[in-house]
Amino acid sequence: MITQEADGWQVPDWRRLQADLVTDAAELCALLGLRPEQLPGGIDGDSDFPLRVPRRYLARITPGDPHDPLLRQVLASGRERDTVPGYGADPLAEADHTPVPGLLHKYHGRALLVVTGACAVHCRYCFRRHFPYQSHLSGGRWKQALDWLRAHPDIREVILSGGDPLTLSNQRLAGLMDELAAIPHLDRLRIHSRTPVVIPERLDDELRALLDTPRWRVTLVLHANHPREIDADLAGRCRALGRAGVTLLNQAVLLAGVNDDAETLAALSDRLHDAGVLPYYLHQLDAVAGAAHFAVSDHRALALHDALRARLPGFLVPRLAREEPGRHSKTVLKG
Ligand SMILES: *Cc1c(COP(=O)(O)O)cnc(C)c1O
Ligand code: SF4
Repeated sequence: MITQEADGWQVPDWRRLQADLVTDAAELCALLGLRPEQLPGGIDGDSDFPLRVPRRYLARITPGDPHDPLLRQVLASGRERDTVPGYGADPLAEADHTPVPGLLHKYHGRALLVVTGACAVHCRYCFRRHFPYQSHLSGGRWKQALDWLRAHPDIREVILSGGDPLTLSNQRLAGLMDELAAIPHLDRLRIHSRTPVVIPERLDDELRALLDTPRWRVTLVLHANHPREIDADLAGRCRALGRAGVTLLNQAVLLAGVNDDAETLAALSDRLHDAGVLPYYLHQLDAVAGAAHFAVSDHRALALHDALRARLPGFLVPRLAREEPGRHSKTVLKG
């Protein structure tokens, strides 16, 4: 839906929702009927990674529950200030895999474009929370990365990532997709995004038309961690994208106090299936400074995976994986 602005410009609904943010922890608590002292560790999080929650997401958080799993993903906790051995700024050594600014090349045939540093929401466990976006995105926009792709015929798939590529306008995405479409050796386009999970309206008709292209089959990898993140609106929009020929996958992160129980993970797979989205990865947390309180042991992660296998069809069980620096693929702990 398009809304007429006073100055004559038309702003899509999702754009307004994207700008309608809570950025203050005390305000977030007040909106949800919580007192800061009810929250384990308090609300004084790492100020280098500010709180950012679209109001659109708040409706799915249970008021008055300091342990709500959706709240836990977005509310900065004082525990982010803990210094924990083994947790650092660049846990995946991504700085070693950056042939040109804005592009990561780690795995055979695939390159990841850091198209923006912006995200619709700040996830407190984010492994790129300390990522030096400025050095990747300054000047020339995507020019160097596109030149690099043109010069590397062994790359067959490009992954739009960030930050979150769906924070860009459809117009800017279309411009980038046109440039990529003109590179003949690219035959797969993938988009990694959490935006639709917090603002389902982002999957608008215009975007669907953009992704419904004969040039290639587009894959959209969503990032939902909890069944309650997939409301009827998001599910309907995902199904429409599926009908338009987009392959839909989901990656989740295993997070203590959010989804580290078999019931929740099984319900997540069910909700995803209902939306026409297949579970792809369940990631073990990356050891990024500030996120240690989300860690789940491998022992427990493997037990949860077993429990999923025991109750779901194989195609609804995500691969339990971890990213380890220096490997030629993500490490699958259990498939
Ligand atoms: C995760 C990742 C990919 C994609 O890996 P798949 O296993 O193909 O999903 C590609 N490049 C980088 C740098 C990554 O971190
Ligand atoms: S949307 Fe993705 S990149 Fe952005 S803060 Fe969340 S996990 Fe990090």
